[in-house]
Amino acid sequence: MCRGFPINHPCGHMSVKWDFCPPVRSSKNFDPQRHSEPCDKHSFSASQPSNDRCILRHCAYHKVLEQGHGRWTCCKCHGRVENIGYCENPDPKPEWYVLDPDTQEFRPGELCNHGCCRSCLAGWITGYGGQKN
Ligand SMILES: [Zn+2]
Ligand SMILES: [Zn+2]
Ligand SMILES: [Zn+2]
Ligand SMILES: [Zn+2]
Repeated sequence: MCRGFPINHPCGHMSVKWDFCPPVRSSKNFDPQRHSEPCDKHSFSASQPSNDRCILRHCAYHKVLEQGHGRWTCCKCHGRVENIGYCENPDPKPEWYVLDPDTQEFRPGELCNHGCCRSCLAGWITGYGGQKN
């Protein structure tokens, strides 16, 4: 049985590292350097956070990191995001509000949750809402 180890990357993407079982490893098509398919009976471990880059080439957050800093400006809510690849700012147009148990006030109940995309990057590069450093 193959075992998958899901990894949560800082950008919010997820990837799976496989520990392949002997039948898969000994099959003709198996190539450890390339993406191989697990057998039908595979199972998953609990996901683990990691600071490794995700494997997605188009991941916009990689560009942010390549520029040497982990901050960008969300194209959806125009909020500043630091050191993660998805936006944790409150949604500018939340559909519902929740009662905050600490303050007894209603506050937006949803986070933006927008993942860093090309529009975020475009805005950031032209200085729209964003600042370098
Ligand atoms: Zn297997
Ligand atoms: Zn990613
Ligand atoms: Zn946002
Ligand atoms: Zn965006």
